[in-house]
Amino acid sequence: MSILVNLGGRLLPPEQALVPVLDRGFLYGDSVYEVLRTYAGVPFALSQHLDRLEGSASRIGLALPLRSLIETEIARTLSASGNADSYIRVMVTRGEGTFGLAPSLSDEPRLVILVRPLELPAPELYARGLHLAIVPVRRNDPRTLDPKAKTGNYLNSVLAIAQARAAGADDAIFLDLKDRITECSSANIFFVKESVVVTPPLTQGLLAGITRGRVIDVARAAKILVREEPHGTGALTQADEVFVTSTLREVMPVTRLTFLGESAPGPHAVGSGVPGPMALRLRELFRASVARGEMQ
Ligand code: PMP
Repeated sequence: MSILVNLGGRLLPPEQALVPVLDRGFLYGDSVYEVLRTYAGVPFALSQHLDRLEGSASRIGLALPLRSLIETEIARTLSASGNADSYIRVMVTRGEGTFGLAPSLSDEPRLVILVRPLELPAPELYARGLHLAIVPVRRNDPRTLDPKAKTGNYLNSVLAIAQARAAGADDAIFLDLKDRITECSSANIFFVKESVVVTPPLTQGLLAGITRGRVIDVARAAKILVREEPHGTGALTQADEVFVTSTLREVMPVTRLTFLGESAPGPHAVGSGVPGPMALRLRELFRASVARGEMQ
């Protein structure tokens, strides 16, 4: 798999794309990033991703390079890659400077774009559904590092997926400090009860997933009832279906749940234990909307 890196405007193979150790992204996770994918070579929802990058940057007071520069560099890296379809990671660190936490010590932001051929989850995962673990580590409270900011400090998610994998699950579901479900380590979560699609509200402290938003839109356009409301784990055990959404997974069903730290951790089957019709339908509606060229 060939990765192409755009480091401050220079296109390099990863082994030559070196970032100084004094970069604050390395020292403190003081950076923001986005992950996009292309469909038929075109970055999906580019302007929404750049909006979210700007939102993340403004939450941590990081001055981004010009949006037009980021757009040009993404396009240049993509076309140099020659990939049919690509995974694109756009990172901006606060740059280098004298040692010390104060952001004022940094020089200028560093833009890094990483492009590699798109690799998607195996079709078997959609056929069997994911096994998710409700993990002991909690989602950052929005008053700490707000989960709405997609920063280079992803340790909260790293810990969650580590706990899930140690328990034999594919991924983690985070609860917040009030025991309410929030999201997964790198995906949003939904459940279905009596044909109503439910997902936690953004105000609860979670990333505003671009796929999440799009799935809500296509569901509502198809007259499917969608509610954004807080729920505890009981809603998952009683759900007819559970599924996750993300850029790379689109809409992926969840068929097993493990409750770490509880007396009967499981795994418990979700609904009838096989992928349900709503997840499949929403994935089809989502893909049809992408194919129509919506939200490019
Ligand atoms: N939540 C978290 C914590 C994530 O990292 C991601 C992936 N960016 C998502 C949700 C899904 O967001 P999107 O649909 O924009 O990929």
